[in-house]
Amino acid sequence: MGLDTLLDATAWAQELRQYGLRVHPSGWETDERMLVWRAVERMSQALGGARGLRLAIGDLILEKRATGGGGAYAFWFRPPWKRVVIGEALLHQEPRWLGEVAVVHELAHAWDAHTAGLLGRMLGRPGRLVRGMVQFVGDEPGPTWYGGLASGLRGWRAAYEEWAESVAAYLYPEYIAHLAAQPREREWVKAFGKDDHSRPGLGDRHRAYVEARFAEIRQKGTRMNADKRG
Ligand SMILES: [Zn+2]
Repeated sequence: MGLDTLLDATAWAQELRQYGLRVHPSGWETDERMLVWRAVERMSQALGGARGLRLAIGDLILEKRATGGGGAYAFWFRPPWKRVVIGEALLHQEPRWLGEVAVVHELAHAWDAHTAGLLGRMLGRPGRLVRGMVQFVGDEPGPTWYGGLASGLRGWRAAYEEWAESVAAYLYPEYIAHLAAQPREREWVKAFGKDDHSRPGLGDRHRAYVEARFAEIRQKGTRMNADKRG
C-alpha cells in the first residue's frame, strides 16, 4: 500500500477489503491507519499475501473503540458475522508496534473462529486451531505470561489465549525481546514447576504448531492459483 492510499482513508478502507477487513474509514487517524496496515502486512506476508490473510480470517468487521482493550467476536449479528475491536489506547503504546501486536493477536482469534463454522461460533465453541493446541497445553508452557498458564484457565480456555499469543510471538520476535525485560515474564513458568523452560518465547511444539498452520494457508492459496490456471 502506497503512502497516497494510507493518507486517503477511503482508499485505505477499500484496499483492506482484499485482506478480509471491513473498516469504516472515518474515525481513524493517519498514524492509526498506518499501524493497522503494518500489522496486516506482516501477518499477510507470512500467509502468502492479501488473499492468504483473507483465507485465514474470512471477512470481518474491524472497529476502533474509544475505551477498553481489544476483543474478537467469533459471531457478530450482522454480515460478515465476525467482528474485531481495538481500544484506542492499544493503538498508542510505546513502542508503537505493541499496537500492531494487539491487532495481530485479535486477528489470530478471528482466524481460529473462522475454523469453527457458523454454528460452533454462535455457541461460543473454539475452532480447530485452538482445539489442536489443547493437545499440548500444559505439557509445554505458552509463549508469554498472558498466553501461558498464568491465567489459571485449563483446557481450551487456556489454549484460546495461547493460540493468539503464539501467533503474535511468531510474527513479532521484537515482542518477545521486549517482554524478556520484565521479571514477571521470566518467573511465571517456574511457578508452575516448569523451570526447565525458559520464557518468554515460543517452545518447540508451539512454534511447530503455528508454523504448520501458516503453511496450510499458504498451500491453500497456491492450490487455488493452480486451479485457476488449470
Ligand atoms: Zn485474546
